Amino acid sequence: MNGRDRDGRPAGDGAGSRELGAVLGVGIATLDIVNEVATYPAEDAEVRAQAQRRVRGGNVTNSLVVLAQLGHRCRWVGTLGEDAAAEAIIADLARYQVATDDAVRVAGGTTPTSYIALSRASGSRTIVHFRDLPELDAAAFERVALDGVGWVHFEGRNPPETRRMIERVRAEYPAMPISLELEKPRPGLDSLLDGPQVLLASRAFAAASGFRDPAAFLADLAPRTSATLCIVAWGEEGASWLARGGPVQQAPVHRPPRVIDTIGAGDVFNAGVIDALVRGLATAEAVAAAVHLAGEQCGRIGLMLKG
Ligand code: ADP
Repeated sequence: MNGRDRDGRPAGDGAGSRELGAVLGVGIATLDIVNEVATYPAEDAEVRAQAQRRVRGGNVTNSLVVLAQLGHRCRWVGTLGEDAAAEAIIADLARYQVATDDAVRVAGGTTPTSYIALSRASGSRTIVHFRDLPELDAAAFERVALDGVGWVHFEGRNPPETRRMIERVRAEYPAMPISLELEKPRPGLDSLLDGPQVLLASRAFAAASGFRDPAAFLADLAPRTSATLCIVAWGEEGASWLARGGPVQQAPVHRPPRVIDTIGAGDVFNAGVIDALVRGLATAEAVAAAVHLAGEQCGRIGLMLKG
């Protein structure tokens, strides 16, 4: 694997020639219906939401929206239904200048929806997700042009198809930096660990894999992957990372004046890592920058970086 040096910097011609390349994000887009509640309701309770908003969601599209605001050219590839929610998603991505020309419309399909209870007391979010839409397959991804792309970011889902997509990128552009998000364990996910240079795991993924400690999780993950950099975000404890050949390191959390909205914190964090690595920052600086970006975002509603 030659995409990254030991410290996580893009190696060789990767940094200079790819710096201006677009970020291509592959994953699902959803409609999120966010109900703001005073406190998280008990089971069987009936509560009134204090506010409601309908916004575009989906981990990769969230990260792309942040990356676009950081000045990157961004393209999203995924599936959409044929409904009003799909139009709303396209309009929202267009607002941030995230290109959606490669998106695949599924005839008669319903766009996935997330119902989110956001607690004003704690800032925590609890999500109920509904989806009934085929995910992007490798055949559709074959039709996506990769020229002009400088970084490809995948959600760790649909392993058999995503495996073939990663292989395609590797075959056509052996030095292309690829990052993979590990949000929750899925059967066959291990087959995706050979190919990416950067793994971006969540605490939920680590916990579901049986780990309560980021260092133990990373020590277990690193020998099983081609990635030279494994990172795990750890909520209010910041993030930890392991660059090949080095020790596990930790970046302390950055606290905003008040935690208001943690929806998408992990997606903002991932965008922060990708942005920093594309710009050639060393791993420690990249993780610190991502923790800072995500922490600031927890002090604001939504994914606008300013305001
Ligand atoms: P997810 O969105 O997947 O639940 P996390 O909760 O792990 O992701 O958050 C991702 C990153 O966002 C963390 O590594 C941390 O840097 C930042 N973050 C999350 N929650 C907070 C918080 N309450 N205060 C400050 N930063 C936070």
